[in-house]
Amino acid sequence: AVPTAPLRARAEIDLGALRANVRTLRARVGDAAVMAVVKADGYGHGALPCARAAVEAGATWLGTATPEEALALRAAGLTQRVLCWLWVPGGPWRQAIEADIDVSLSGMWALREVTEAARAAGRTARVQLKADTGLGRNGCQPGADWEELVSAARRAEAEGLVRVTGLWSHLACADEPGHPSIGAQLTRFREMVAYAEGQGVRPEVRHIANSPATLTLPETYFDLVRPGVAMYGLSPSPEVGTPGDFGLRPVMTLSASLALVKRVPGGHGVSYGHHYVTPGGTTLGLVPLGYGDGIPRHASGAGPVLVDGKWRTAAGRVAMDQFVVDLGGDEPPVGAEAVLFGPGDRGEPTAEDWATACGTIVYEIVTRIGTRVPRVYV
Ligand code: PLP
Repeated sequence: AVPTAPLRARAEIDLGALRANVRTLRARVGDAAVMAVVKADGYGHGALPCARAAVEAGATWLGTATPEEALALRAAGLTQRVLCWLWVPGGPWRQAIEADIDVSLSGMWALREVTEAARAAGRTARVQLKADTGLGRNGCQPGADWEELVSAARRAEAEGLVRVTGLWSHLACADEPGHPSIGAQLTRFREMVAYAEGQGVRPEVRHIANSPATLTLPETYFDLVRPGVAMYGLSPSPEVGTPGDFGLRPVMTLSASLALVKRVPGGHGVSYGHHYVTPGGTTLGLVPLGYGDGIPRHASGAGPVLVDGKWRTAAGRVAMDQFVVDLGGDEPPVGAEAVLFGPGDRGEPTAEDWATACGTIVYEIVTRIGTRVPRVYV
């Protein structure tokens, strides 16, 4: 058996916080349903435990990018509605239909594949038509493309091959409060929904809101909201606010045990390239986490760590498996806890601090934490 303790490093996942976050989001959106977005292994938190916890707290839908992620939820026994939205030709349409997964269609090729699979399975596929209302990514263009997709979907409904359960879209700039594209996308969404409904589509759910919209834009709620990052207790962007501003609590705490503490003289180069040189005699602590665990190499010289009550900074380059902090002469015992990020209430940095230090977004910080770091559920 693989030894599990003592742990080199751990990502503690506070499922109580996740449940509380989901309840907070539910209270915010009134009658709208909540789809817990658990793609990318639940933003690095573990898709299955997080999906279960979200459902316990009242999420009635689960959202994934890939069909494989959706099928894994079913294989684990989750029976809630699941929408998955990132398909390529030849995808597992039939398995998805047989697993009662709602599939998103952004174009005619996808409708053709899903109707073929439905015919072969002798089942009606639940499909949601995705509109590109301005994101310029996945989704069907307005105008002739949308009209063609809607009318073909209506014909497939008449044949019993599909049922259009949803009309939906995704916002480009909801994390930039006041961005003019938000209103433009909402207007376009209403027009595209009205067109489809005028053609007889009767969706169960119309939805466009991600976390920033759920936190700041009630006019985006429609029938359902799709929070991801907020459910994990993180704010989508500093402009939107802090998690605490919305009563959210970060779910992940990433920590490690110092693998070495040693005294070194001044003028000592640290880590590859010697980008840090000790300014005087000091102590160095070795944090046994690196880019092989998803710690961005951009954290070199910048990533903050709490050791023995003090913030230290990644000194020199982050390597594949380890990085070093200058402990300034302090001598915590080897094995002492180094907290990279967490909710912040023990004085530790937050994932937001790491995002700032690395020039990225908080989504990337948590999602990158790799499988070599055990998740410990509390
Ligand atoms: N909906 C879709 C289609 C997404 O791709 C995502 C994630 O990027 C979300 C919802 C959740 O976004 P957020 O984490 O900002 O809530």
